[in-house]
Amino acid sequence: MITESLKTELKRIVGVKNASFSKEDLLCYSYDATNSPVLPEAVVFPGSAEEISLILKMANSIGFPVIPRGAGTGFSGGSVPVEGGVVISTERMKKIIEIDADNLIAVVEPGLVTWDFQQEVEKLGLFYPPDPSSLKFSTIGGNIAECAGGPRAVKYGVTRDYVLGLEAALPTGEIIDTGVRTAKGVVGYDLTRLLTGSEGTLGVITKAILRLIPLPESIRTILVTFADIRDAAKTVSDIIKAKIIPSTLEIMDSVSIRCVEEYAKAGLPLEAAVLLIEVDGSPESTGKEAGRIEKVCLENKALEVVASSDKKEIKDLWNARRAISASLFRIKPNKINEDIVVPRSSIPELISGVQEIGKRRGLLIASFGHAGDGNIHVNVMYDKKDPGEDDAAQSAVRDVFDLTLRLKGTISGEHGVGITKAGYLNMELSPAAIEAMKRIKNVLDPKGILNPGKIFPKSAAPH
Ligand SMILES: Cc1cc2nc3c(=O)[nH]c(=O)nc-3n(C[C@H](O)[C@H](O)[C@H](O)COP(=O)(O)OP(=O)(O)OC[C@H]3O[C@@H](n4cnc5c(N)ncnc54)[C@H](O)[C@@H]3O)c2cc1C
Repeated sequence: MITESLKTELKRIVGVKNASFSKEDLLCYSYDATNSPVLPEAVVFPGSAEEISLILKMANSIGFPVIPRGAGTGFSGGSVPVEGGVVISTERMKKIIEIDADNLIAVVEPGLVTWDFQQEVEKLGLFYPPDPSSLKFSTIGGNIAECAGGPRAVKYGVTRDYVLGLEAALPTGEIIDTGVRTAKGVVGYDLTRLLTGSEGTLGVITKAILRLIPLPESIRTILVTFADIRDAAKTVSDIIKAKIIPSTLEIMDSVSIRCVEEYAKAGLPLEAAVLLIEVDGSPESTGKEAGRIEKVCLENKALEVVASSDKKEIKDLWNARRAISASLFRIKPNKINEDIVVPRSSIPELISGVQEIGKRRGLLIASFGHAGDGNIHVNVMYDKKDPGEDDAAQSAVRDVFDLTLRLKGTISGEHGVGITKAGYLNMELSPAAIEAMKRIKNVLDPKGILNPGKIFPKSAAPH
């Protein structure tokens, strides 16, 4: 419970203008993309690591939850204040502190929007590859906390591959520096990796040292259509089998294509499946790789393979791809969006399996996503108000997870566990592994004040 004296203290730490307790503001910080809002009791907008540290120390001595928040675009409820408390929004901490072009690193604050950062480094011929589809509004801090991935992960890896070091305020308030500014470094435990992907439960990231690489000289974009999604899925594994690693390899099924095309009108072909593929590098190498990809596509019964280097056309295609998730609400008022990953050779089996689950449960399931790294966004569409559909949707999710684990995959490639997958943790992790994770959490956050109610289920898991 946030008392009047606590409100006064919060205002003293961050400044009167940077703390709010009004219902209107609290509402804005009550939700993320899962649309399962819970009101916090206060929201603060600190301007420094020191202010965050003071809030955490106060939370420890008085006992109230603190929830770090970037842009609130998370898909697992990570920034939802499920137990109330104080939301720490990083939106004022968005500076690019340094771009060291000689050493290919940058130092940034956590509230910086990923796209804004990419635009700045690209002006210098540098490249920061992590590109979650939310990149125009999600933050570097949120990306690190979730270890976000994106279409380019197939070639360039995910956020963790670009985090060299961090400054973070621990749950008990101490500010620590982790990692290095160098290409290598192995002094002590790798706390950078521990914090990356920790979903705001082990520390509040206040600064990040990020690795940059040279910007590729040229990009070629290829749009491939198929009459049967199973041929598209087989093409994905055949491209990888042929030892070609495109910079992106995205799949969209017919449900996703139709939905987004009605909404974005990007000129996507209304066929059973589409692959959106990019290769990057020197103009010679991209030309060669595009040719090899075209051959694999045609061998797998592609209806059409269209290469483009028209900037406007390519931008429209990517805008459409990024709009799929939101456009699916045209079908049903609710969706459960899972981000399972399977070994790339198992994609055909996964796609057929998901279609079969949809049929068996009487639900429409839209599949799209980062097929090149085996990460498919499976969207179970339903109406929460219809008890039959609600039950069927929950059962379909369990079926999808069972299938994924049978295929030696993982139940989350990038969205994290948060609240939405906490109940399924024991489907993938052993009791001993869960216990080891809980012990780490307890050591760093003995009073359990930082982002409580996330990752670990409160009661026995439903599995
Ligand atoms: C349309 C759409 C498309 C998306 N596409 C992708 C995609 O392609 N790939 C992908 O990986 N994700 C995707 N996402 C999910 C989401 O955008 C990512 O998880 C993103 O990294 C969240 O960033 P955020 O700034 O919005 O963080 P928030 O949602 O605010 O927070 C996410 C988590 O990070 C923690 N956190 C935030 N800032 C800090 C900090 N400074 N220190 C410690 N913890 C912190 C929060 O407590 C929370 O647990 C998508 C979401 C949407 C809505």
